Amino acid sequence: MSTIPEIQQIESRILSLGNSVRSEVLAYSQDGDSKLPIYKITFGSEDPQAPVLGIVGGVHGLERIGAQVTVAMMNSFSELVRWDRQLQRTLQDVRVFFIPTVNPIGILRKTRCNPRGVDLMRNAPVDADKPARWLGGHRYSNKLPWYRGKENEPMEVESLALIKGVQKEIASSRLAITLDCHSGFGLQDRLWFPYAKTQKPFPELGLVHSFKNLLDQTYPHHFYKVEPQAGTYTTHGDLWDYLYLQHNGVAQGKQYLPLCLEMGSWMWVKKHPSQLFRADGPFNPLIGHRHQRTLRRHNTLLELMIRAVSNPEAWATLTSEQKLHHEEKAQELWYAGT
Ligand SMILES: [Zn+2]
Repeated sequence: MSTIPEIQQIESRILSLGNSVRSEVLAYSQDGDSKLPIYKITFGSEDPQAPVLGIVGGVHGLERIGAQVTVAMMNSFSELVRWDRQLQRTLQDVRVFFIPTVNPIGILRKTRCNPRGVDLMRNAPVDADKPARWLGGHRYSNKLPWYRGKENEPMEVESLALIKGVQKEIASSRLAITLDCHSGFGLQDRLWFPYAKTQKPFPELGLVHSFKNLLDQTYPHHFYKVEPQAGTYTTHGDLWDYLYLQHNGVAQGKQYLPLCLEMGSWMWVKKHPSQLFRADGPFNPLIGHRHQRTLRRHNTLLELMIRAVSNPEAWATLTSEQKLHHEEKAQELWYAGT
C-alpha cells in the first residue's frame, strides 16, 4: 500500500523515541485501497491543567509544506528533548503535541480536500456572517473547491480526528497555543488569529495583542504579519473557530490562542514562475535550497511559543489594566474603521 514520506518519518521517530513520547492514531483516512493514519505525538506533562503548545499540519493536502514544516519541527524538538536538560525541565510543567498529517490522502494525491471532496477548513458547523463567495465555503458539489459537506451530516473523519486530538490536550489547560501550518497566500508569512467567520473581534483580543508584543520585542526583525484571518477573507466552517468556540475558555478562566501560519507561497512562485505549471507549484517551495530554508525558517517561532507557554507571567497573566491597554492597541491596529 502506498504511504507518504511524512508518515514514514513520524513512524520511525515514534519507534526511536520509545517511552519518552506518547503517540496515538487519532483515526485513519481511507479511500478505496488507500488507508493512512493520522498520528498525534505528545511530549511532556500529563497534568490536564498544564500549559500546552500544539503544532498541526497537512489539513490541506496540496499545501504539503505545512506537513513537512510540522514534521521538521517535531524532529528537531525530539532531538532537543534527548539532550537539553533545560527543555526536559520545561516539559515537566508543559505539554507539546504534534499532529503533522491531518489529511494524509490529500497529501498523497496532492489535493486540497479530503478523499470525499470536502475542504476540511470549511467543514465545521460554524456559519459565517458574510462569507467570501465560493472561497468562503459552499454546499453545491464536492467537485468544486471549498466544499463544506452536506448540511447536518457529521463532520469528516479527518476533521473529527483533529478536533478530538486537540480537545483532549487543551480541554482543562490554563493556557494553550496551537499553530496550524498552511501555505498559499501572499508574499509574506502571516500569523492569523480568529475569527474566520466574522470581522468582529474575538474575545481574546488582548491576549493575541500581548503575544504579538512579545514576538515584536523579543525578535524585532521577525518577518510575520500578525492579523485576524477575517481581515483577508471570511469563511464558513473553520475548524479553529469551532475549536475555539467549543473550548469556551474565557468563561472558565482558561486562555486559548489558536493561530494559523499562512506561509507566503507567492515568494516562491515569484522567484521561480514556471512552478505555476505544476498542481502543487503555487503552494510549495520546489527548489531544493528554498525548500530547505523553509523547513528551518520557523524554528525561532517554535522556540518563542514554547517559552511563551512556559512563562505565562511574561505576557498572558494580565492585570485588568494591562488587558484593557492591549485591547485598545489591538482595536487601533486591526479594527480601526470597522
Ligand atoms: Zn490551507
